[in-house]
Amino acid sequence: MLNIVLFGPPGAGKGTQSEKIIEKYNLQHISTGDLFRKHLSEGTELGKMAQKYMDEGNLVPDEVVIGMVDDKIKETGPVNGFIFDGFPRTVHQAEALDILLNEKNMPIKGMIALEVDEEELKKRILLRGKTSGRADDQDVAKIENRIKVYQAETLPVAEYYRKQDKYEAIHGIGSIDEIFGKISDVIDKLK
Ligand code: AMP
Repeated sequence: MLNIVLFGPPGAGKGTQSEKIIEKYNLQHISTGDLFRKHLSEGTELGKMAQKYMDEGNLVPDEVVIGMVDDKIKETGPVNGFIFDGFPRTVHQAEALDILLNEKNMPIKGMIALEVDEEELKKRILLRGKTSGRADDQDVAKIENRIKVYQAETLPVAEYYRKQDKYEAIHGIGSIDEIFGKISDVIDKLK
């Protein structure tokens, strides 16, 4: 099983690169942001609960996210592996994911971190906001809060995987194909 965490701040290109990775390596994509947005559009209780956090750019409580990922893994049939995008976003989520995957004997093979500086992130997110329709992509204060939350709560997750010798950083500025080439090189070594 090729289970990979695609890591990076909001706007780093995780969604774009995930699409290319799942196609080339035939992996199952699990994006917690996408899952929450689906719940929101379907008006589920989970979606309503998550909305107030998402609108402000804050993190949805860990237990809610972990439960949702657990359900998604369980309802997925046999796959070559999972690509986790936007998850884990706290050390507690990373620990819970390890427990969950170790039980199934399918641990995380590696984390690929996309590195992009803050000014570039803000530019990209505002540009995406013109077409994404996402409220959290259109307001500078909310975008800045998302980046702040990333630095305070999510960055320690990189250290968690570094300690396990599973961390690979990639410079996330350049053409989509150029960055994908570097990601592919890392994945080919993990296989
Ligand atoms: P994203 O599409 O990954 O930028 O996620 C959009 C929003 O969904 C985030 O700002 C959070 O409010 C929420 N969210 C997504 N993934 C997580 C997660 N792993 N933990 C907590 N909240 C999350």
